[in-house]
Amino acid sequence: MASEPVAERRAKTGMRVGLGEDLHRLVPGRPLILGGVPFDSPVGLLGHSDGDVVLHAVADALLGAAGLGDIGEHFSDEDPAHAGADSSKLLAHVVDEVRRRGYAVGNVDVVIHAQRPKLGSGKERIRARIAELLDLDLGDVNIKAKTGEGLDAVGREEAIACRVVALLDGRDD
Ligand code: MG
Repeated sequence: MASEPVAERRAKTGMRVGLGEDLHRLVPGRPLILGGVPFDSPVGLLGHSDGDVVLHAVADALLGAAGLGDIGEHFSDEDPAHAGADSSKLLAHVVDEVRRRGYAVGNVDVVIHAQRPKLGSGKERIRARIAELLDLDLGDVNIKAKTGEGLDAVGREEAIACRVVALLDGRDD
């Protein structure tokens, strides 16, 4: 039997997957905010906004799944209006854009690459905050923490990176 055409299958499921990646430099004198959660740290993430590498990667995963480009296209890093911006507000805007196009967020899987700080119980706080921002159940948000094994910019404690995969559901039922 001939296989079902791809367009047919997509119309039935409406599932869309997106990948988001980001990396920010760690510097003294900046607050460290990861996934919308402040961490006590002598160093924080450099960026035009609050530098929240986790929420930026979440936003890019959602934009990618919806076919809407990347956050650099939506929020210029030269716009003074975004200087020091709370990234949870940027993410809220992205969620609105995605929903206006008929998508619901299904789940997100988040991998945070940080040599320091050790995230420990902070992972659960990040999970709860992302679930709140995306209006998801806790079970739809997964957080993984990895070190850089002492290698590369993450391992040398010069940066924190994040990768996120997000699923959108475009069914109208
Ligand atoms: Mg960023």
